[in-house]
Formats: sequence, C-alpha cells, structure tokens
Amino acid sequence: MRLILFGPPGAGKGTQANNIAKSYVAAHISTGDMLRAAVKNGADLGTLAKSYMDKGELVPDDVIIGIIKNRVKEEDAKKGFMLDGFPRTITQAEALSEMLEAESESIDTVVSIEVNDEEIIERILQRAKIEGREDDTEDVVRNRLNVYHNQTEPLKAYYESAGVLAEVDGMGTIDEVFERIQAVLEKVEL
Ligand code: AMP
Repeated sequence: MRLILFGPPGAGKGTQANNIAKSYVAAHISTGDMLRAAVKNGADLGTLAKSYMDKGELVPDDVIIGIIKNRVKEEDAKKGFMLDGFPRTITQAEALSEMLEAESESIDTVVSIEVNDEEIIERILQRAKIEGREDDTEDVVRNRLNVYHNQTEPLKAYYESAGVLAEVDGMGTIDEVFERIQAVLEKVEL
C-alpha cells in the first residue's frame, strides 16, 4: 500500500504513523524525522533545514523533493510506503505524482487526521514540555499552523479530486483514532 498520512502539526500523525507502520506498510517515511536526523549529524542538509525548522517555515521544495526521490527508490519502499509529513505543498504533491507515474504507480489513499486549531495548540505545547522540541514554542507553533493552513491544507482538494482523500476525526483517544484509520485502510482496494 502507498499511503499519505496527512494533517496539521500536532494532529497525532507521529503516533498514528507508528501504529499504521506495524500492520500496513513496509517503509515509514517521515521527512521531519529525516531532517531532524540530518540536524543531529551535522550534515549540510541539517544546517540548511534547521534555519527553516526553527521558525516553523517549510524547507524549500527542491530540497525536500530530492530527499523523497532518493528515499522512495530504496528497497523497503518498493513494497509500499507511508509518507508522514510529505507532501506539504502543491509543488511537492505534483512532483510526487510525477515520480510515481514514471513507475506506473500511484497513491492508494490519503488519510487526513482532522483536529481543530485550539486543540492542536494545546497538544503541541504539552508535547514541548515532554519532548523539548525546539520548534514547539508558542510563536513557532502558531506559525506552523498558519503555514499548514496556507500551504498544506490546499492539498486536501488536490487529493479529493484524485478520489483518494479519506478524512478521519482526530479527536478522542489514540486507540479511537487508530480504529477509525483502520476502518479506512481496510476498505482501500489495492
Ligand atoms: P514535522 O516533524 O513533520 O512536523 O516537520 C518538522 C519541520 O520540518 C517542519 O516544520 C518543516 O520545517 C520541516 N519539514 C518537514 N517535512 C517537510 C516538507 N515536506 N516540506 C517542507 N518542510 C518540511
């Protein structure tokens, strides 16, 4: 299965991605995790990415698209993958479509986790206390939400017109949300 896990920052994507990865997909591809690893390793990519991540801005499309192009070519991803945190712009989505079309492949489903803004801010600030992520301060969180609404949310219409968008209510417990996701994934025809 090739799926995109979609939703605002703080919607619980990371947690649900781990749940989904256990049962449904070979490769869990998180651009945020890949960028954080690059920052940690002191790679050039990390230095570049950090300047955007610290402000809650998006890393430039060509950089991210290059990373994904290499990653989906890896052996584990050939059996299927879940993209977590990518695509985040229409340009990225179009590049992904082209990449897949070149291999006669396509996205099977886009699971969009729906959570309202107030709940998101509360959850992210809570996470900041626990994980100490540098991009979880209130100003940066608000900026990441604005970026989400302006640049990423329009992708829902893109995937809806492709007939692959599935919206899932992200309010409730982790288990409740995962059950809703499973109900969607069980219906996906491969
Ligand atoms: P995440 O862990 O997915 O919330 O990503 C953390 C940060 O990494 C984001 O706020 C962006 O600065 C950057 N990032 C992750 N994925 C992307 C992407 N697909 N496009 C641009 N920037 C990204």
